[in-house]
Amino acid sequence: MLAYRHAFHAGNHADVLKHTVLLRVLAHMNLKDKGYRLVDTHAGAGGYSLLDPSAQKNGEYLQGIMRLWDRKDLPTPVADYVALVRKFNSGSGGELRHYPGSPTLAHAVMRSTDQLRLFELHPTDYRTLQLGFKDIKTATVTKADGFASLKGQVPPHTRRGAVLIDPSYEGRDDYAKVVQALRDAVLRFAEGTYMVWYPQVSKHEAARLPKQLKTLSPKGWLHATLTVQRPDAQGFGLAGSGMFIINPPHTLHEELRTALPWLAKALGQYEGATFQLEQRAA
Ligand code: SAM
Repeated sequence: MLAYRHAFHAGNHADVLKHTVLLRVLAHMNLKDKGYRLVDTHAGAGGYSLLDPSAQKNGEYLQGIMRLWDRKDLPTPVADYVALVRKFNSGSGGELRHYPGSPTLAHAVMRSTDQLRLFELHPTDYRTLQLGFKDIKTATVTKADGFASLKGQVPPHTRRGAVLIDPSYEGRDDYAKVVQALRDAVLRFAEGTYMVWYPQVSKHEAARLPKQLKTLSPKGWLHATLTVQRPDAQGFGLAGSGMFIINPPHTLHEELRTALPWLAKALGQYEGATFQLEQRAA
């Protein structure tokens, strides 16, 4: 079942949290000259037109990146992220029309010595991603199951690496697959930095996931959530999302300590909008 299309969700509050964290992690990786590998197990299409009917259908980006677009008081991690999204809109006179996905944002900050490994299963999104990255020598795009492929990607030969696991959680299976894929990967490459995005939805599996991830982290971890809206009357809907990071950069907690409360206010759609930030330092 591959019904999920990120084109409907690109630039929403979940992307804001996920991509802000991704860019902080990569900025930290870039502090050392030695090359690294980033594995994006669920890469999506790599970029999305916000003028497209899919993005316009629910206008999720209007409650995400659009709320930040003209703000002059962005905290540094958010300012860096918005500035990068702006670069991909430089041809549209300052208007937000295009949203770059995780592969494109990552590639924009990675160096020629770093490797990008992208996995995507949806045939249409895979084709778009492959076309977008066909001339990029440091990137490979593979139409394969990102969960199963991860263990073949770690450890990278430089023993420096980061992984983004950003599934669609269409089926309940994805929660268990995240745990299993991480368990295998951490056994092979305990020093890697692993970022897992997950939705705040009314499902037992979603509530349990961060607890399970804590037990998988041999050294340190960081857990950040951003809750922006109430679930609907039936208890459904995406209230917010979380990022769980195994072996986070030591600077990440401090960066998010200012960014998260600001984001909860800027993106909050009800008075209960909030955030959570916890870590176990290495
Ligand atoms: N990481 C992207 C970004 O931030 O721009 C968004 C990814 S989207 C949330 C999840 C993607 O995973 C979808 O494009 C979906 O087609 C793809 N997908 C679903 N199951 C997969 C699997 N087992 N392996 C690889 N890709 C998968």
